Amino acid sequence: MPNLSNFHNFSTGHLEVISGPMFSGKTEELIRRVRRAQIARVKVQVFRPTIDNRYDDRDVVSHSAQSIEAIPVKNSSDIWHRIKDSTRIVAIDEVQFFDNEIIKVITKLTNRGHRLICAGLDLDYRAKPFGPIPTLLAMADEIVKVHAICTICGGIATRSQRVVKSNDQVLVGAMEAYEARCRAHFEYNEADEEEEEKIKVENVSAMSAIGNNLNLN
Ligand SMILES: [Zn+2]
Repeated sequence: MPNLSNFHNFSTGHLEVISGPMFSGKTEELIRRVRRAQIARVKVQVFRPTIDNRYDDRDVVSHSAQSIEAIPVKNSSDIWHRIKDSTRIVAIDEVQFFDNEIIKVITKLTNRGHRLICAGLDLDYRAKPFGPIPTLLAMADEIVKVHAICTICGGIATRSQRVVKSNDQVLVGAMEAYEARCRAHFEYNEADEEEEEKIKVENVSAMSAIGNNLNLN
């Protein structure tokens, strides 16, 4: 348990969420906030999910090659168990990749008086809200929406365009697989997705029909 009497500004806990599309500088903003606290010798622990091993295994590394020490964790309860008594600030990068338990962990930590700095993608490649992010945005004391620049028109980009074909929500590999796009230049065909869903449902019905036939025999 941290000594809460040493807390001043954040004695009641504080949740900051930095979100936006790819190439918008979310991690840089997280690093900036962490560095500022470290200069004041405030104890910070930085976590990131192991799913994202794009660069170094130990570091949160942003695209601009600015980096900071981070602890890779498999799941959200791992974060809870690794918090040290002296830690006042908990930073979590790529928070969208965590399971929904992350909400409980973050709530418990803020209730215990920690300042939380979470960075993550707000929308997935279909421009649908990503995992626990909508809940975290609702719970946040402070929200920072960061933007990228559209690769087509140079306008403000709020979407991550996937430029390789895949239907997986998680496709790690930043530079090659995505481009930042504005609303006008973001392309995602809902009809294609509905068509694929229909085929899946038809396949499942066909399978269960076969199953029923087998049962009858
Ligand atoms: Zn554009």
